Amino acid sequence: MPAGTMMNVPLTLTRVTERCKTELAHVEVVHREPDRSISRTTYGQVIARAEAMARGLSALGIKKGDRVATLMWNHAAHLTAYFGVPLSGAVLHTLNLRLHPDEIAFIANDAGDRLLFVDHVLLPLFEKFRAQVPFEKVFVVGANGKVTGTDVDYEAWLAGAPKEGPLPDLAEEDALGMCYTSGTTGKPKGVVYTHRSTLLHAIVTAMPDSLCLSRADTILPVVPMFHVNAWGLPYAAALVGAKQVHPGPHLDAASILDLIESENVTIAAGVPTIWLGIRDALDAAPEKWKLKPGLRMVVGGAAVPEKLVRDFDRLGLTLIHAWGMTETSPVGLVSRLTPDVAGVDEDTRFKLRAKQGVPVPFVDVRVRNEQGDVPRDEKTSGEVLVRGPWITGSYFGIEAKDRFTDDGYFRTGDVANVDRFGYVQLVDRIADLIKSGGEWIATVQLENALMGHPAVREAAVVGVPHPKWSERPIAAVVKREGAVVSEEELRAHLAPHFAKFWLPDAFVFMDAIPRTSAGKFKKTELREMLRAHYTGT
Ligand code: AMP
Repeated sequence: MPAGTMMNVPLTLTRVTERCKTELAHVEVVHREPDRSISRTTYGQVIARAEAMARGLSALGIKKGDRVATLMWNHAAHLTAYFGVPLSGAVLHTLNLRLHPDEIAFIANDAGDRLLFVDHVLLPLFEKFRAQVPFEKVFVVGANGKVTGTDVDYEAWLAGAPKEGPLPDLAEEDALGMCYTSGTTGKPKGVVYTHRSTLLHAIVTAMPDSLCLSRADTILPVVPMFHVNAWGLPYAAALVGAKQVHPGPHLDAASILDLIESENVTIAAGVPTIWLGIRDALDAAPEKWKLKPGLRMVVGGAAVPEKLVRDFDRLGLTLIHAWGMTETSPVGLVSRLTPDVAGVDEDTRFKLRAKQGVPVPFVDVRVRNEQGDVPRDEKTSGEVLVRGPWITGSYFGIEAKDRFTDDGYFRTGDVANVDRFGYVQLVDRIADLIKSGGEWIATVQLENALMGHPAVREAAVVGVPHPKWSERPIAAVVKREGAVVSEEELRAHLAPHFAKFWLPDAFVFMDAIPRTSAGKFKKTELREMLRAHYTGT
């Protein structure tokens, strides 16, 4: 057989940056500064600065595979690092500023980060762990020359970096970036993305049946750039040539809505809590913001209650539900209505849109239990297993064989069922399932049903130790502002939809449910808060 005749051009970020410099040089990149003012730049300027950054890093002795950390909000300088660090051959390690300082220090040390780029406004956080991490140099972004000690002013350094000169040759298997898992079970572990995995992921997330991104879009990642590369959106946006808008440190609903309105955002992405806040703000002041009909909001990171999908439709806006993990780059499932479901009624359409969705191209998803792949009956559940070119095959420095099946799938730890159309619906994390009297209870379904009650803003269900049943479910409930509802009403709301033993024994009303740094319910903490319900200890 003859070999293919195509050129062997590696899938590296350079393919994107070259086009940003020529075809897309004028396309805008906008962000909100800490003082709330709006700054504007272009892809042309971002990439010119990124290349200067790459040369500057090389001049400092940074070599292929070295880790360079950022501790930053979403803004143009972070986007510059998204390109500049990998263009130097180094690995962009985005530190999660919402973690405890000791945990950030652990992660930076585990990764062996050589340098740090930190926002001036985040220096107080950095000071809490500076002594614990031996960064060789610290660059302060947005300091306006006001740096102290051995710290370096980022702007001054960049201005002095070589404007010309070659950049290192990159191979598509070279590491581009890394993120750490949230570590709800055990220590956080590093996941390392390659140029190839990042580019393929960007291409597929942009496809029409995925997030449908185009040159005509204006994309606002509310999801932080330190969470799985803001779901890959900064790269996908640059690939398609969409304008990017970044919120800086201002993530409150009004600031986000102002930005969506003033910058004509067409697609925004964030975790359910962000959209809950935005729904409440829109309900409270329906006339305040003139949002374009057709505005799409991508929601993921935690299950979206069906009610929220309905509420946004009522407001003329579209929620698109997607599922992923740090280990999956993250996009694996997207819930879009396929032609196969064209004939279903309206209630079923909402139900499908609230599911995690169907696998995107290249991601092979199996839902498997002891009997094998589960039947597509929407009832039988199993663990979600994934395989594909942007799914991790190990962790940084750890093989973690127990996280993979013998046939090479990554075990997600998520439990789901599949319906006859192939839509995957998560029912729980394995670790959060409740075993009551020998029977399993899946908490996510209870939570979604509870959040369907008009008086409920948020609800989380956890299992607590019980002397007879071993565990029983208890619901933590946050009411919507001004709403009145009793435990009996909530039980009656759930009763028609669940077996009796699934119904929570108690409904505990709270002001807020503890959350992880990524905006997910922190069930370990909630379980601790409620664990004494029966045993008193
Ligand atoms: P992380 O790696 O911190 O992003 O966490 C990944 C985990 O978040 C997944 O294994 C799921 O348990 C959860 N998750 C992500 N997206 C969704 C979603 N759309 N619905 C429900 N859970 C989700």
